Amino acid sequence: VTPRRFVRLANPRLSDLITEGLGTDKWVADLELLKGLEPLAKDDEFVKKFAAVKQANKVDFANYAKREYGFDIDPNTMINTMVKRLHEYKRQALKILAVIARYADIKSGKISADDVMPRTIVFGAKAAPGYYLAKQTIQLINNVARVINNDPDVKSKLNVYFPWNYNIRLAQHLIPATDLDEQISQAGKEASGTGNMKFALNGAMTVGTLDGANVEIRERVGAENFLLFGVTVDEVDALYAEGYEPKKYYEADPRLKAAIDMVSKGAFSNGGRNTYAPLVADWLTKDWFMTLADFTAYCEIQGEIEVLYRDPLEWNRKAVLNVANSGYFSSDRSMEDYLDRIWHTGPLA
Ligand SMILES: *Cc1c(COP(=O)(O)O)cnc(C)c1O
Repeated sequence: VTPRRFVRLANPRLSDLITEGLGTDKWVADLELLKGLEPLAKDDEFVKKFAAVKQANKVDFANYAKREYGFDIDPNTMINTMVKRLHEYKRQALKILAVIARYADIKSGKISADDVMPRTIVFGAKAAPGYYLAKQTIQLINNVARVINNDPDVKSKLNVYFPWNYNIRLAQHLIPATDLDEQISQAGKEASGTGNMKFALNGAMTVGTLDGANVEIRERVGAENFLLFGVTVDEVDALYAEGYEPKKYYEADPRLKAAIDMVSKGAFSNGGRNTYAPLVADWLTKDWFMTLADFTAYCEIQGEIEVLYRDPLEWNRKAVLNVANSGYFSSDRSMEDYLDRIWHTGPLA
């Protein structure tokens, strides 16, 4: 991804801090220089400045979301983002089912309101017009947002927003303000992904599967600085081979069962039981991308994430290390790679 758009233009505060930390602005055209930030992850003063940049970006985003969409986002909550095309393999369904399970836990008192780490979940996605299950998923996310955001029992604990028309402009406002980025596609399906790179470069932590460029991001930033969960490519293949049965997972995890039952019984369709019938039928009988198989592990890692996020210095230290080790993902490096290995031209000048 290009550091001019996705760091220098989108995130001027972080850009200034990087320049201050490195003592030069040459990183804008030579992104591997970010590696020089690595020692600063041990410098509490620098990490606190980094945290202040993120916080200021969150306030900016909350103002932008109010102005553009009329949303009331609390910038003092964790901003947890999932933005990308809507597709079954990308598994927005996994995220929304986990949100529903969380909502049910807070409602039932299984988690006391005081123990909940406040989160704002932001989705952004478009679907092809004829892609029925994708459109149903968009409808479900919007209706979960409507129900949760109007429920006083979870107010300021859990909020869901779905700004429409996800595009580069929204991306440039949202990515610098994100604490936690979701890259939760089924292992083996994503060719690379570039959203994951934009977020790591802007100091978000990633919760993700071993898929696409998540694998390279994790190798570069360090396994301890990447929030990994889920079945691997080999495990996916083994599950297909033995005859994947999503219903088993539904029966085995009461939280998953409760979440799906809420959808099928009309909790997000004013009591209507037919609204999401095709989506629910797909989950229980097909679930080709194994959302149900990864649900339990996904909820577990989210629990670990909350523990980590409660320690801001540790969280931000890890986020700084994500920035410092993501220079490799510059489009400049990628172009040089093409010139050298594919086109055999070398640079023109
Ligand atoms: C980066 C970007 C994408 C690609 O996101 P992935 O998570 O890699 O699928 C899609 N849409 C917009 C507007 C983007 O900025």
